[in-house]
Amino acid sequence: NKKRTYYKSWRVMRISNGEKNTGHTGYDKKQSGVDNCLKFKSVIFDNSYDSSPTRLPLPQVAFCGRSNVGKSSLINAVLSRKIAYISKNPGKTILINTFLVNENFYLVDLPGYGYAKRSKEMRNRWKQTIEEYLQFSNMLFHIFVLIDSRHTPLKSDMEFIKWLKFYNKSFSVVFTKTDKSKQKIIAENIKYLEKEFGKITYFLTSSKQKKGLNRLCEFIFEKINIV
Ligand code: GDP
Repeated sequence: NKKRTYYKSWRVMRISNGEKNTGHTGYDKKQSGVDNCLKFKSVIFDNSYDSSPTRLPLPQVAFCGRSNVGKSSLINAVLSRKIAYISKNPGKTILINTFLVNENFYLVDLPGYGYAKRSKEMRNRWKQTIEEYLQFSNMLFHIFVLIDSRHTPLKSDMEFIKWLKFYNKSFSVVFTKTDKSKQKIIAENIKYLEKEFGKITYFLTSSKQKKGLNRLCEFIFEKINIV
């Protein structure tokens, strides 16, 4: 019974804060700070799923993006430890990895989409697994869509965002590798997205230079409601 009340209270919080616009754009003042990320004190690799974990018992935030976008690096930077596997040769298995943070919420690492070398059958399976998770997960509070800041968002990125908007999901865009891109290009990419989708919440990050992470971590806390 105690357990049930606890879960219920998460739901209530979600509803009451669901529409709160806590998004910020760009770097914050403390560009290289990671103070907020250090609040993620305990991180435990929880599980790998080859089907949708729609019934996780605690709130979740998910990270998603195409292979090689810098997702593992960003998760490691956010969690201040090398816990997500960094690969230069994206694996063939489609697994959803979950990390239990502060025993309070899950950070969910969703497999990269739009990886050209995957067979059509695998891409379809990915789509089915991810969409099932995103659509039916009981306590998924926010989805971070990672986009390489150096390149114009790809068709697969656009389709994914379109899908999230259609299902009215709480999401934001995280531009990665900003240490390698020009401001003008980033501005163009933001414009490209906003032309299609209207105002979006976005973050500019560099895992390498630890930029934009403080704001991102603060945002995760706000979304999960752990202050
Ligand atoms: P994933 O496939 O999306 O998990 O991407 P990884 O985290 O494995 O990163 C893919 C490649 O991009 C690796 O060679 C990383 O070293 C590189 N990378 C990731 N983040 C950054 C960043 O912030 N800056 C730069 N310059 N390179 C990055």
